[in-house]
Order: sequence, then structure tokens, then C-alpha cells
Amino acid sequence: MKKHLGFLLILCFIFVACNSNIKEDYTKNDPINCPKHDVALTKNKVDIMYGMPSEFVFQELAAADSLFPYAKDFSVGGCMIEDSKYVILSSCTACVEARDIWRKENKPSDQ
Ligand SMILES: [Zn+2]
Repeated sequence: MKKHLGFLLILCFIFVACNSNIKEDYTKNDPINCPKHDVALTKNKVDIMYGMPSEFVFQELAAADSLFPYAKDFSVGGCMIEDSKYVILSSCTACVEARDIWRKENKPSDQ
């Protein structure tokens, strides 16, 4: 029994260590399916982007609301850098495809 308890403690430590940089799970109030594409949403671990986003990022965020609401592969974290590196967001495969097309069509020529 003691062997199993030690093993469980190690598993708990690994779980906490691997997830300690996750700030928050933002999927709790999301629907089961993407309202735009009716595709099942999955959970996605994405980087938090600290600092001032580029103009292109602002344009993408504005387009995302109507064109690809569940395709974010980053989260804007503000100017104050925290220890948190990731958040959990919902993702839709059709939104990701639409976002990738939007990025190709709208990418600034200098990037
Ligand atoms: Zn979608």
C-alpha cells in the first residue's frame, strides 16, 4: 500500500509541475460545438503573449470575432509579464482553417 501511495504522490507532483504555468482554463463557459461551423470544440493549450501586440495581431483579433471565433493560438496577457505561460482555450478545426486563410490573405508584406 505504501508503494502505491508514493507512486500517487509522484504522479500528483508531476501533474502539478507540468501545469503550474497554466494561468486559467477559459473553456468552462464555451459551447460544445462551434456556433459558426457546428464542429465539436476541443481544448487547446496556447501561449500567453505579453507586451504590446502588433497591428496585425489587433487586426486578427478583430476579424476573429466574426470569421473564426475559436481559432486563437495565443492569448493576449497585457504588459505586465507574469509567471503564467499558457491558458486553455477552445478550438474549432474549421475556425483554424479560416484563420490560416485569413493570415495568408492579410499578412503584411514585410513579415
Ligand atoms: Zn468554428
